Order: sequence, then structure tokens, then C-alpha cells
Amino acid sequence: MEFRKLGRTGLDVSVIGLGTEYLNGQPRETVASVVHEAIEGGVNYIDLVFAFPEYRDNFGAALQGCRERVILAGHLGSTEKDGQYYKTRSVKRSETFFLDLLSRLSTDYVDIVLLHNFNTVKDYDRVMQPKGLMDLARRFQQEGKARFVGISTHDIAVALKAIESGQIDVVMFPINLAGNAMPGRKELLSLCAGQGVGLVAMKPFAGGKLLQPKGTIRVAKYQTGGESYKQKITTEITPVQCLSYVLAQVGVSTAVPGVKDNAELAAALHTLEATDAERDFSATITDFDRYLKGECVYCNHCLPCPVAIDIGQTHRLLDTAQQGISEGLRMAYDALPVKASACTECGVCTERCPFGVDVISKMRQTVELFE
Ligand code: SF4
Ligand code: SF4
Repeated sequence: MEFRKLGRTGLDVSVIGLGTEYLNGQPRETVASVVHEAIEGGVNYIDLVFAFPEYRDNFGAALQGCRERVILAGHLGSTEKDGQYYKTRSVKRSETFFLDLLSRLSTDYVDIVLLHNFNTVKDYDRVMQPKGLMDLARRFQQEGKARFVGISTHDIAVALKAIESGQIDVVMFPINLAGNAMPGRKELLSLCAGQGVGLVAMKPFAGGKLLQPKGTIRVAKYQTGGESYKQKITTEITPVQCLSYVLAQVGVSTAVPGVKDNAELAAALHTLEATDAERDFSATITDFDRYLKGECVYCNHCLPCPVAIDIGQTHRLLDTAQQGISEGLRMAYDALPVKASACTECGVCTERCPFGVDVISKMRQTVELFE
């Protein structure tokens, strides 16, 4: 397993986490088996989104004896009514369901309390008012019931506002191929990296849409993080390609694929040992490049470079540095075995790049910024 910092929380999170939406309604043995296999595979980040009693009890049972091995995220504002999911902004109701989560998990705290599911700035503004959900989250923090406060949202404007407020440590946002180059997304990712806000990538398969056989898919706003649209898919896309794409994006700390059984978990975890050919997502991205002009997606389809520059990683660091160069970023650049200044401007990479990236100019910018 590979681990990354979850922004300024300082927590080391596995790059593949566990989304649990599709484990709702599964037998307790399946939930336990998936959780245990995930932990054995190195997964340490688990997102618990629902408030259904049986779902929570199943995770409580699965986590018995291994609570301390995982970083748990619990949602504030996700409740249940008459057996159905019910989103609320009621402080009292949210508190009741949050305490119910701790009790059913037999734990004293969650690591991240996530203000749940924001789709409009108006909604966000409401919970940030005094005596709103944010105050409740802070109180839980003071009481030791939550270590850090985050937000889950499908809206770029909400995410930007939350990050700029300085009050949010973690953002959970849909990141996947279908949302590639959505207007504003690049800024969001680099703002997270620049401000030290941990970025949890939800919906890496766009709710399963990306894994459908070739044909036309319709993706919704909540799946793309930008807008809904219809798209013809011309190549079959694998979970490994989806996750490799997500983990290549600037700022992403962990991706939380939703799996319903051990087979789906294994398919996701295979990303870590997949060959370069299996991870290569460059052929898949052309279906989603409608806004893309000269933007690097860090696919490394332009390699090999005659002087062995890791072009994708170099561009990733350059793009991350747009909001300022942190010490960690400088260390990451210093650790590159071959620096941008080694570029001979031979141009073979630009001929190979499917996305028209001006690699030579980016190498020059990198030298100016880092060397
Ligand atoms: S320059 Fe092009 S081929 Fe190379 S990593 Fe960037 S997008 Fe991929
Ligand atoms: S132009 Fe520079 S980065 Fe691209 S292949 Fe040549 S040496 Fe490598």
C-alpha cells in the first residue's frame, strides 16, 4: 500500500480507501470480510456515510478489535427516516445520529467528521452560521469525539468556499475521468494542495458509469462534480485505469471506491500491483477531453524520455506549485532522480502526447520555479 498525507491533518492515509455505500444491505459476514480484507491489504481510511442501524451495527461488528488500525470518517447531517436516507441540517437530529454512530461502532471518536453533502453555497452558508452544524462539529472536536472537520460536496463553488474559509481540514469531492477538466476543477485541486486541505476522492468510477460496457453513458452532476452530460464511450475502462487516473491528479490523498464485495475490493486493490500498461489511462481519457486543451493529465503516455525525466510527475509538481511551494513540494521535487533542467528539448514527448501539452515550455517553467 502507498500512503499520503491527508493535508494538514498530518494523518497518513492509504491511497486506496474504502467507500461503503454499496455495503449497505449486504450480510454482516460480507461487511466483515470486506473490512478485514481491506485492512489486511493496507487500507486504513474508511468512509461511513449512512445512518441505517443495521449498516452501522455491521461495521461496529467488523471493526471490533481493529478500530485503532483505521481512520474513520463519519457524516454529520446524514440520517435515516422511515428506513430511508434523510439529509438534514437540524443540529439536534444530526447530534442524535452522530452519537448513535459512535455508540454502534463502540468507539469514542471518529477521525474526520464530515459536514454532509452540500450542493449549493446557500446550504453551506446556513450550516456555517452560529449554532449551525459547523458549531456542532467544533463542539464534537472539543469533546474529543472528532479529531478533524471536513465537508462532503459535489459542487465546486461550495468546495472552494469551504477551503478558502480556512475552517475545513478535509474535502470529499467526486474525482473521476468523467469530470476530467470540468471548469474549475483544476483550480480546486491545486487550491487543496496549496492550502494543505486533505482531498478524498469519491466516486472514482462515477457511480459505476465508467465501468459499463462500451456505449453511451449519462453522468449526473453529482458524479462529475461539474455538470451532467451524455458521452459515447469508445474504450472499455477498468477499475485500475479509473483509480490510476484519480491518484494521478493534483492534491488527491485517497480515493474511496465503493465496493459491494471482496471481488470488487480485490479489483480496486489490484491498482497497487498493476503493470504500467494496466494503469495507462491515456486511451480512455480522450472520451472525456471536451474541455481539455493542452492540459497535462499526468498519464505519462509521452514516455520514454531520452534523459529519463518523469514527465507526468514533474508536471504534477509544477501544477501543484501554482498556489505556492510548500516544503513538502520542494522535497518531492528534490527527490526526482532527473530534474526538468536535464530536458534537451528534443520534442519527442510532445509528438507522443495525445493532449497537445507543450512539454518543453512546462519544463522551462519548472526550472524557473524549482531550480
Ligand atoms: S504531457 Fe501529455 S502524455 Fe505526458 S503526462 Fe502530460 S498529458 Fe500525459
Ligand atoms: S523534450 Fe525534454 S522532457 Fe520531452 S522527451 Fe525530450 S528531453 Fe524529455
